[in-house]
Amino acid sequence: MSIRATSLGFPRVGLHRELKKALEGYWKGQSSKVALLSVGAELRARHWKLQQDAGLDHVPSNDFSFYDQILDMSCTLGCIPQRYGWKGGIIDMDLYFAMARGRQTVADDVTAMEMSKWFDTNYHYLVPEFASHQTFKLSSTKVFDEYLEAKALGVETRPVLVGPLTYVSIGKYAAGADADTDRSALIPRLVPIYIEILTKLRNLGAQWVQIDEPALVLDLSEPYRNACSVAYRQIAAAAPGVNILVATYFDGLRDNAELAFSLPVAGIHVDLCRSPGQANTTANDPDRILEECIAKAGDKYLSLGVVDGRNIWRNDLYASLQRVGKAVAKLGADRVFVAPSCSLLHVPVDLGVEQQLDAGIRNWLAFATQKLGEVVTLAAGASAGKESIRAALEESDARHLDRNTSRRIHNQAVKLRLEAITPAMMTRRSSLSERRKLQREILGLPQFPTTTIGSFPQTHEIRQARALRKKGDMDAVDYRNAMQKEIKTVVDYQLQIGLDVLVHGEPERNDMVEYFGEQLSGFAFTQNGWVQSYGSRCVKPPIIFGDVSRPSPMTVQWAVYAQGLTDKVVKGMLTGPITILQWSFVRDDQPRAITQRQIALAIRDEVDDLERAGIRMIQIDEAALREGLPLRRADWQSYLENAVTDFRIASCTVEDRTQIHTHMCYSEFNDIMPSIAAMDADVISIETSRSQMELLNAFVSYRYPADIGPGIYDIHSPRVPTVEEMVALLTKARQVLAPEQLWVNPDCGLKTRSWPEVQRALENMVAAARLAREETSGTG
Ligand code: GLN
Ligand code: ZN
Repeated sequence: MSIRATSLGFPRVGLHRELKKALEGYWKGQSSKVALLSVGAELRARHWKLQQDAGLDHVPSNDFSFYDQILDMSCTLGCIPQRYGWKGGIIDMDLYFAMARGRQTVADDVTAMEMSKWFDTNYHYLVPEFASHQTFKLSSTKVFDEYLEAKALGVETRPVLVGPLTYVSIGKYAAGADADTDRSALIPRLVPIYIEILTKLRNLGAQWVQIDEPALVLDLSEPYRNACSVAYRQIAAAAPGVNILVATYFDGLRDNAELAFSLPVAGIHVDLCRSPGQANTTANDPDRILEECIAKAGDKYLSLGVVDGRNIWRNDLYASLQRVGKAVAKLGADRVFVAPSCSLLHVPVDLGVEQQLDAGIRNWLAFATQKLGEVVTLAAGASAGKESIRAALEESDARHLDRNTSRRIHNQAVKLRLEAITPAMMTRRSSLSERRKLQREILGLPQFPTTTIGSFPQTHEIRQARALRKKGDMDAVDYRNAMQKEIKTVVDYQLQIGLDVLVHGEPERNDMVEYFGEQLSGFAFTQNGWVQSYGSRCVKPPIIFGDVSRPSPMTVQWAVYAQGLTDKVVKGMLTGPITILQWSFVRDDQPRAITQRQIALAIRDEVDDLERAGIRMIQIDEAALREGLPLRRADWQSYLENAVTDFRIASCTVEDRTQIHTHMCYSEFNDIMPSIAAMDADVISIETSRSQMELLNAFVSYRYPADIGPGIYDIHSPRVPTVEEMVALLTKARQVLAPEQLWVNPDCGLKTRSWPEVQRALENMVAAARLAREETSGTG
């Protein structure tokens, strides 16, 4: 028996984002359900074939999803929130998309399920929602259908399920449910469904089933650990004859290693890539993790995640081969799988189509398709000896040497500047309260000032102008005119509906990170490097390959133009260092913290220039601060310290009169309030509407000193909230926040929405703020 080449999941959106197009066509009513289903089937077939042809021994199935694999799991388990009026039975597509996106028809008006970030990735899942007496029931045939579908195509697959521990620990009790109940108590109730699924899969012929339990890399409380042990004991006892691989990823197992390896399952998958070479702690040193796993494996199969599923650098085949070799020496070839560290969902599909990428940089990279090749090569090399993959090893060494010694990576001026950072550079001139007083006087805003988060709808014309400019088919003057026209439309509109603090609308930005990356040095870009963010939404993360600096201003001309159109304040709009780092593929040859600090200095330069150009308010978006938080608490402090320092380096250059805003999406602040406050922004806007202001609980226990705009319009749903709903949310917010602290704004930017939706929603929002003002002045 030779070492098996395996994978945990493949990107499903398609090389040319076929799934995105099919979904959006279907949602707009432009194409039929049949058409959507056939695009799904075509993508699955293509990806299975591709993986089989690459030479994988285990090809995953059920990793496909029309929206989200956690939503699929909720359907499989029959965990459907009450508001969708589900009567049992098989869940159809309308219900499925209603949960994903909300539903607003004449007859019906129901909100979407809450979204949250999948561990520390930029992928959003739909949060399982449990009722007080939640029961579960097998309610979808998807996993069986897809297994059989692949089989019919001649591909034997390893079906993937999200495991009970993970499913429960990433879920939440519905508002009003008995939230005091320990959620771990739900795990035993799920066991019968898993048994039913596994039994059925075995009867259909499945040899292996992959159960994803990334929750095993989290800090787990005793009830969860116990529930997990008991659940797997019962599952294994009742569903014999099928090999279960429990897949863990996104970090090492640390104190859960004992638990994971004690589960009576056939195999364990471990992530040996998390921050290799840039680990903050010895706890995620891959060689140590590997040794521990080998020692604990006993007679289990060990699946080694040696190819990074979260980043796009070519694998160091020699180093990986040695690791695989160590495992083989102890466990035997038969017991070792080679694999990517996690599902390849988090990397683009194929480097092969990146014809425009600088060839020098291209040589350093590997996308999903190339990573499968690396896995297969490593398995072959470990089975037949390193001579058998000699050419691949030599190529890998040469490419790594080329990268490490490349002059394009190192910029001495940047390194020196980093060393010269002083404490004064991270401190505002006066305290928050002094600044607040001054800013109130100068800005003269009404109570509950209304604003937006920055972007306005990206219309077809805007995208077209950007595309033409990129291709060189539009000259700089025409492009500037087109953007200015759009900015004027957006500014005029905001004036017309009476918003208090305006934005220019960000028409020039394809993406809040890519836009900056394109103008910073040290970044490279792909044409097709799409990664799914949520539903049909994809992002194209930049690649940070070298030292970062800002050659010239990036946003000043647009902000200045917008400000010139009105006497009202226009907020300058920047993306912060943490978010730029978090949403890029980051070089792995130095600690992430250093790269982040370089970006902070670049943003500081831009803040300086904006202020000098007369911009009085500057928002620095740190949308990704929370999701970048290490999964283990032990690692939080150093991350947060760096985050705070870098935000301050970026922002603290301004005069007291200049108001610094920050914005964060999907943030749960409970445990990090002191750090959020330590960033010392004057105003923060956050996402809160989908969770009905639940997130504000953090502000009860910790009095946040600055101003806050809790979002009252869920921009991730096409649904338009009514004035009453928004007033109700504001009322809730006022129970927690002082009236003079409160700003009124949407959850996030409006770029993904259409103008008609945005108009209705913003007009309602302005009306809601007026009502709130009347109410407070009425009550004195
Ligand atoms: N300013 C950005 C926008 O409005 C913020 C987006 C975000 O937080 N994701 O689009
Ligand atoms: Zn946001």
